[in-house]
Amino acid sequence: MPHEPGKVMLVGAGPGAADLLTLRAARAIEGAQALLYDALVGDEIVALAPPGCLRMQVGKRAGRASLRQETINRLMLRLAERGLRVVRLKGGDPSIFGRSGEEAEFLERHGVEIEIVPGVTAASAAAAQFGFPLTHRGEARRLVLATVRTGDGEVTGGGWAGLADPEATVALYMGRDSAADAAARLMAEGRAPSTPAMAVENASRPDARLIHARLDGLGQAVATSAGTGPVLLVIGAVALRAKASVAEDTLAELTAAIA
Ligand code: SAH
Repeated sequence: MPHEPGKVMLVGAGPGAADLLTLRAARAIEGAQALLYDALVGDEIVALAPPGCLRMQVGKRAGRASLRQETINRLMLRLAERGLRVVRLKGGDPSIFGRSGEEAEFLERHGVEIEIVPGVTAASAAAAQFGFPLTHRGEARRLVLATVRTGDGEVTGGGWAGLADPEATVALYMGRDSAADAAARLMAEGRAPSTPAMAVENASRPDARLIHARLDGLGQAVATSAGTGPVLLVIGAVALRAKASVAEDTLAELTAAIA
């Protein structure tokens, strides 16, 4: 039976907090007939989908089983071919380590209309929550959003020289398990071992945490202190400007008072 052609929207869900969703993203989810979402997308956001909307979690959480990219692509295509309004919901911004390029290319090649809705990326959320800027006059003239991994999940051997500029803030995505390795490579390229650094876990969520370290201690700090949530590494002078959130301070004070 012929259908009206469907459409796929590649939508950024933001870093976790539901109220960091854009209005456009919220409307897309509310109008979805099929919702394919990443593991990092919270329940509160998925719950915006209307009753009757097909919902499926399709990945991706480091180290855990998820559908292969090829399978996700085919699934989106089949659903769109059936005339459904498909929303592919991704953590943060879909254009930043979100495979939106691959998915868009695949769908366009098959004649499916796509639309991309941006989202708040993890680095922006971390900066807002912990009160530090990503750029700062005279201190951080460049912001580099980078990953330490290649497509195969290996730590990449090249490209580190560009991150060694002392005036660059480096936000490393997907770097939790490679923090020590990444730090070693940056130092090998000339970044000072004393460069301020930090790991932000679960940015924008109630259980957000900030772990401060120097670059040469970043790997150790992450290994001993990080939990199981998503971790963003931030390296550069701006890390000194980060403050623990009010909630965290209050909690620490209360805990100390009770103990
Ligand atoms: N498109 C996403 C990034 C996807 S890659 C974005 O724009 O934010 C997944 C990586 O993003 C994680 O390994 C982690 O480094 C980072 N990340 C995503 N959400 C995060 C959060 N709430 N707090 C800290 N880091 C996060």
